Amino acid sequence: MAKSASFPKPDHDHSRCSASALRKAETICAARKVRLTDIRRDVLEIVWKSHVPVGAYDILAQLNADGGRTAPMAVYRALEFLMENGLVHRLASLNAFIGCAHLNAESGEGHHAAQFLICRACGTAAELESAPLTRALTQAVAERGFTIDSQIVEISGLCPHCAAL
Ligand SMILES: [Zn+2]
Ligand SMILES: [Zn+2]
Ligand SMILES: [Zn+2]
Repeated sequence: MAKSASFPKPDHDHSRCSASALRKAETICAARKVRLTDIRRDVLEIVWKSHVPVGAYDILAQLNADGGRTAPMAVYRALEFLMENGLVHRLASLNAFIGCAHLNAESGEGHHAAQFLICRACGTAAELESAPLTRALTQAVAERGFTIDSQIVEISGLCPHCAAL
């Protein structure tokens, strides 16, 4: 996989993205001896339905679409688990969730610094995870004596496809 993947094209075969993400999630959970329960897996699948971040209530609505009775708390707990294990990111500017595009079964790392490009037209969010950018930011922040809890940079604008329209 390319280090800096290009912006997801509207016509790409997304079933491959989601299938690969779910496979990696299973490997990661197995390696950590944590359980990818049905609800956690269902939530992850919904998050991976597209590259457009999805809110907790949308997830709940999709889970219960065929008459299910999943409670909001169960969705929040599942999202909490998925975030703790680095499988999804929360985008604060949208209050929505997106699958991590840089799952690495070998590294065993959970949280990681990430930069997201968020298209204001189509809603697609692409993860950069640029190591030089992360280093530069970490250093600039450290120089100010600030301790980082989490580092997600959200950049809004137009993706190449919407810009070309
Ligand atoms: Zn995709
Ligand atoms: Zn990520
Ligand atoms: Zn766009």
